[in-house]
Amino acid sequence: MTGRYLVTGGAGFVGSHLVLALLRGGANVTILDDLTTGHERAVPKGAQFVRGSVADPDALARAFSQGPFDAVFHFASLTLVGESMREPVRYIAENVAGAAALVQACVTNGVTRIVVSSTANLFAEPARIPIDEDEAVIPGSPYGESKAMLERILYWADQIHGLRGACLRYFNAAGADHDGSAGEDHRPETHLIPLVLDAAAGRRPALTVFGDDYPTADGTCIRDYIHVADLATAHLAVLEPLRTRSVRYNLGIGQGHSVREVIAAAEAVTGMKVPHTIGPRRAGDPAVLVAASARIRRELGWQPRFERLETIVSHAWAWRKANPNGYG
Ligand code: UDP
Repeated sequence: MTGRYLVTGGAGFVGSHLVLALLRGGANVTILDDLTTGHERAVPKGAQFVRGSVADPDALARAFSQGPFDAVFHFASLTLVGESMREPVRYIAENVAGAAALVQACVTNGVTRIVVSSTANLFAEPARIPIDEDEAVIPGSPYGESKAMLERILYWADQIHGLRGACLRYFNAAGADHDGSAGEDHRPETHLIPLVLDAAAGRRPALTVFGDDYPTADGTCIRDYIHVADLATAHLAVLEPLRTRSVRYNLGIGQGHSVREVIAAAEAVTGMKVPHTIGPRRAGDPAVLVAASARIRRELGWQPRFERLETIVSHAWAWRKANPNGYG
């Protein structure tokens, strides 16, 4: 693929995997990232890198001076449900301010297509599982609320300025690049699969399972784990429809796995036991979040390449073994 793209948060987990996909397709990529949660070593070779925040007008100007861009991908944001339950105002203020500044810069600079990271946390009280795109938006946390607001910003930017937007509601991004060029490294790490693998390897204390009294078969929460490389291809797939219309898709595999099933998959992949204890529920966690991914499959022909939980965990494990200290 050709073209010139801006990726905010391109040094983060999902963003860096999209950048790899763009570069492998032959695109020209500029990353804007302030490295508060991203890593300089996660910036793939071949991408231009602008260090700074989306909320900083000077950094935005430096990033847009690398354009004109065929499309903008927006990942840069605070992303943790649990943290947002402790710092609600910061989550909403920072995520909305950053998104608003970026969308305005897109309009000012003549960008006509934007793809943004949204979340399954829009759906705290789903009427139906799996959750489709017509489900009512009832955010489960201030983090989810900030993404609901981002979706509304895009709605009005389309209505008034004709900026076409794709809202991609990720369920649980997981795995790592299958060639080992990128992986998952959050500081602090709060995500289940890296914590499970580190507990198996003895690099962290035993995992705490957040609640085993949910109304699910084994009592633990059920999530839809989707390979980060499959998320990346969905971002590329929406570029074509964005030429004429805005879109929103729920992005998962369409199958849920409990925390206990993730532990079992990690034990099968690593050949090691995952030490774990049962703790209280984590605030903001719904019992079951599974995506109905039928719409993007039907409308765009998107197909996940790595659907099996064991494959997703094995890619995460391969990266973790090759990079025991993550990005350093
Ligand atoms: N989880 C857990 N222990 C941990 C981290 C996560 O039991 O140390 C559970 C969490 O309650 C949720 C699932 O694992 O049900 C996935 O959590 P994660 O933070 O990875 O993603 P989220 O669903 O919050 O986006």
